[in-house]
Amino acid sequence: MTDNCIFCKIAAGEIPSQKVYEDEETVVFRDIEPKAKIHLLCVPKDHFAYLSELTEVRARLLGRLMQKIAEHKDEWGLSQGYRLVINQGENAGQTVNHLHIHVLGGETLEWE
Ligand code: AMP
Repeated sequence: MTDNCIFCKIAAGEIPSQKVYEDEETVVFRDIEPKAKIHLLCVPKDHFAYLSELTEVRARLLGRLMQKIAEHKDEWGLSQGYRLVINQGENAGQTVNHLHIHVLGGETLEWE
């Protein structure tokens, strides 16, 4: 756990969140400022900050996270489709420096 990381604290249960799923390496909870009808954040419990820090081991972890999203999509109200977003760095608007996948859906999403 990395000090002062809000997602590490959520993963550890130290600050509250609306969790929809948890296992030994993953936590999924509702975004506090949803950008779609359903907006979840899928977060690996092990802290790393950026997609650009991907290693082979982390890439496999990311693959498992995406597989879990696929497995749970119906239960999370995403059976009609969903969009995954990972913001990398400042220009992409990354505000929390703990890797996370935005999972958006529950309605027709605009695509510009
Ligand atoms: P990003 O801009 O890609 O780093 O995304 C960070 C996301 O985390 C934003 O969509 C925030 O609304 C969300 N967020 C920040 N703090 C919390 C929190 N305590 N609980 C749930 N979502 C949060």
